[in-house]
Amino acid sequence: MSVLSDFLGGVTAGAIEVIDLTAALSEHTPVIQLPPPFVNTKHFSLQEISRYDERGPAWYWNDIATGEHVGTHFDAPVHWVTGKDGLDVSQVPAKQLIAPAVVIDKTAECARDPDYLLQIADVEAWQRDHGPLPTGWLLYRTGWGARVDDERAFLNSSETGPHTPGLAVECARWLASESPVVGIGVETVGTDAGAAHSFDPPFPCHAFMLGAGKFGLTQLANVDRLPATGIVLIVAPLPIVRGSGSPARVLALVSP
Ligand code: MN
Repeated sequence: MSVLSDFLGGVTAGAIEVIDLTAALSEHTPVIQLPPPFVNTKHFSLQEISRYDERGPAWYWNDIATGEHVGTHFDAPVHWVTGKDGLDVSQVPAKQLIAPAVVIDKTAECARDPDYLLQIADVEAWQRDHGPLPTGWLLYRTGWGARVDDERAFLNSSETGPHTPGLAVECARWLASESPVVGIGVETVGTDAGAAHSFDPPFPCHAFMLGAGKFGLTQLANVDRLPATGIVLIVAPLPIVRGSGSPARVLALVSP
């Protein structure tokens, strides 16, 4: 198949650049912190089984413990009550895990206001410059990826709760119901703003997007290395049966 040969040739020759959008996964990976009375997820951890020792003289291996929603991860529709009859992560067709992506950059706005909310007008302005949104991913660049090595700065919580960027309620509703995007990808700990617990409805990006059978991607890295358009995204969550999501490897293919 020459199309695959051409593709591999492009990767080898550097005409196609592969950018890893996955944050390193370790016990230091920041994890969302919900306020009481809600129950929180685990941080990632390794438990050593053997390391070339009496427990296994020639081999090193670990058990892992993790939440589904830890680190760079995929939100399946069934994650939210509005999508409870939708797909679990194992049911998402593999073909849908390869899709185009575009980037909307609100880094400057988010630097000024950590509670910045993406508006419909922002997306309309982007479309005037770059053309229509794809049947693919909208990646929301906020600059938050630069904070990922410091959980405190990444979660940015104060006595008034977490302060991280997200989407305005109407923008989330519009992207879910009136745009062709299949999902929203973010640099932050979740697809919704830190303050979204107080919105109507609460967590509108989760409520509208997952309720529409669409997806979420969080804690993306290297979003600052992406162009605005011309990206192919490969998203690889684990097919956890009945899973609401999964840590995922996310690769972007671009033409440098
Ligand atoms: Mn999630």
